[in-house]
Amino acid sequence: MDNKVMCRICGHKLSAGEVRCPKCGAVYPQSHTDQFDFYGRLYNDKPTCISYLRRERIYETIVNKILHISKDKGAMAMLDIGASVGISIILLKQYGEARGIELDIPELREWHKFLGIDSAMIYMDKNDNIGNFYARLAKELNEKIDFIFLIDTLRCIPLFTLIDIVSRCLKENGIIIIKEINPDNRKIFEHRISGQHGDLVMYSPKTVNYLARRNKLNVDWYIISSAIDNFALKVPLSILKLLRPPAYVAILRRVV
Ligand SMILES: [Zn+2]
Repeated sequence: MDNKVMCRICGHKLSAGEVRCPKCGAVYPQSHTDQFDFYGRLYNDKPTCISYLRRERIYETIVNKILHISKDKGAMAMLDIGASVGISIILLKQYGEARGIELDIPELREWHKFLGIDSAMIYMDKNDNIGNFYARLAKELNEKIDFIFLIDTLRCIPLFTLIDIVSRCLKENGIIIIKEINPDNRKIFEHRISGQHGDLVMYSPKTVNYLARRNKLNVDWYIISSAIDNFALKVPLSILKLLRPPAYVAILRRVV
């Protein structure tokens, strides 16, 4: 009898009840909810949406302190995967052409209309096959994008080859920006392992490093703080693994 399950990121065989993959460091919450229903309910709640609007400060820190994008650098092409209510699009539009990807949820569409960014949005319908959706996108945007943002999004997307697929959209020196919660942090692990937060898989720095190597992308690591504006500390992976902060930012660059 074989009661082993496969790690969905790296294919390593996990023993029954094992939640953390020893090979790539991915952590699997005990359960997860249907994404459309879960986010439909989430974006129906006004206070939650307002807290998402406040996340602009995190994007600003990443743009100003980590990416050093300036308005006179020339038009950059940017893609925000999981753009949420869409406040990031308003910020990113100042630096070039910005588009966002989100689930086609009526409450979200209302926010996008309200913020005047609905024409910049690409919607994924409930009936779309997520693999086909991103394969089409990668074909359309092949080597056309400077910056792909995955801010607190990766853990919710039920497509385990997402990084492999969207890295094809990057221009030379193009960058994927990942901000994620860190399951190596004990409090985060204990808080999120129940699966009540819509997480499908939690990406540790080791997991992101594994995916970067698989796609021949260079990685830089940063610690940022949602409580302190414009705080971004560049750290080596070894220090990040030692410090185990509750969240981290990874900058994956396609060097040709
Ligand atoms: Zn794994």
